[in-house]
Amino acid sequence: MKTIGLLGGMSWESTLTYYTWINTGIRDALGGLHSAEIILYSVEFAAIERLQNLGQWDKAGERLADAAKKIESAGADCLLICTNTMHKVAQEVEAAISIPLLHIADATALAVKNRQMTGVGLLGTRFTMEDDFYRGRLEEKFGINVYIPEDEERAMVHRVIYDELCCGTISGDSRKAFTHVIKSLADKGAQAVILGCTEISLLVQQQDTSIPLFDTTAIHADAAVQFALSSSGQRGSIVDGVRRRAI
Ligand code: GLU
Repeated sequence: MKTIGLLGGMSWESTLTYYTWINTGIRDALGGLHSAEIILYSVEFAAIERLQNLGQWDKAGERLADAAKKIESAGADCLLICTNTMHKVAQEVEAAISIPLLHIADATALAVKNRQMTGVGLLGTRFTMEDDFYRGRLEEKFGINVYIPEDEERAMVHRVIYDELCCGTISGDSRKAFTHVIKSLADKGAQAVILGCTEISLLVQQQDTSIPLFDTTAIHADAAVQFALSSSGQRGSIVDGVRRRAI
């Protein structure tokens, strides 16, 4: 089994989900006491969030690249950046390492394409919803149309992510507000909605809405499980079963 490198802590609330999903995926595939080989570097999120706010993405990229190098030298065979937002600096991180970076938007786009969908809504931080690094990748590399919420809705989603979900607060009112936004994305034409922030599935899950959801945390974690098993002849029906959990 290959070793999975996780660059986490952004926030640690969702890194916990990655840890659970990946280990559950390996157990589902191999049974018994089997579990994942994981190297985790968990950053101090307040420092990263400050750099985001100041627009100092170069510095944030340097920090993450430095952490990624440590993960590689500790023996990881691949790297996951456990946040959608920080894929804004994915290129810098990728350039600093020689192991493959499993890109969260690519894994998600493949899940969308597997369902033969061509237009999806996107929820996430304002960086993920508004900047080009994520939407642009879905649109240009995969030909997927991306719908984003209106200004006020985006502000609400962004605020809930940082002020509530990343701080471990789960509120019924926020769940209602998110499901309302999901519905308005469907009304605009989205066939499904990408939960493009790794904490959103702590708040909203498929049972909360009839609109299909793509949970990026689960999809990304499943991509890691598939990667880890790919050297040991475990691909195929078992891994397809693992993948099905995520969608
Ligand atoms: N975990 C979040 C994401 O997936 C937001 C936190 C961050 O800014 O990295 O985008």
